[in-house]
Amino acid sequence: MTPSDDSSKQQRHKKRMQARKEIVDAGVASALEERGIVILYTGDGKGKTTAAVGTATRALGYGYSVVVAQFIKGAWECGEKNLLSALPPDRYPLQWYEMGTDFTWETQDFEADKAAALALWDRVRAALADDSVYLVVLDELTYALNYHWLDREEVLQAIAARPAAQTVIVTGRGAKQYLKEAADTVTEMRALKHAFADGIAARKGIEW
Ligand code: ATP
Ligand code: MG
Repeated sequence: MTPSDDSSKQQRHKKRMQARKEIVDAGVASALEERGIVILYTGDGKGKTTAAVGTATRALGYGYSVVVAQFIKGAWECGEKNLLSALPPDRYPLQWYEMGTDFTWETQDFEADKAAALALWDRVRAALADDSVYLVVLDELTYALNYHWLDREEVLQAIAARPAAQTVIVTGRGAKQYLKEAADTVTEMRALKHAFADGIAARKGIEW
């Protein structure tokens, strides 16, 4: 490559970056509204709960108050909970609630599952009305809605009426259209591949 090739490549790169910067700056300048949002992570691919708990970590890192509610309690524990719960609560205010049952296909008891979901919903409702809570994570909420443990209208109402500065993250497969519409940011995790399909067992510290 001659020096002049090099400099014209440089110039083209500079021009492209300048054009890009203008687009980004215009976007930033037009995003003026300051409020909490509703984020939905759905789809069959891996990463929904990881992304939600990662965001909880991000909020806690600034000392914001976070509530996590898990609507399907794993048969397993959860590494993030072990870590985040060990932090000093005065600096990193986290409440982590779980539904007090096993996976629903293991209990196979609709009434018990529904009662457990409703008990958890009571805590969530209080968090959604509390303006000291910056972030509420509703992990696997889609199941509680799709199984009709919770009343859809009541859930949507409580989310819509939350404090303006509060963000809510909903996760779970099979989110219905009404949830996608209620959310400001929707990401669908799509499974291109999953090790489980090749007979590889879920790994501690990776899957849970
Ligand atoms: P993660 O908790 O790893 O972020 P997730 O929340 O997106 O995953 P879920 O749909 O809640 O995934 O499934 C719970 C468990 O199933 C997790 O251990 C996850 O790793 C695993 N899993 C996720 N996607 C798949 C898949 N496509 N096939 C098999 N197992 C999966
Ligand atoms: Mg999950």
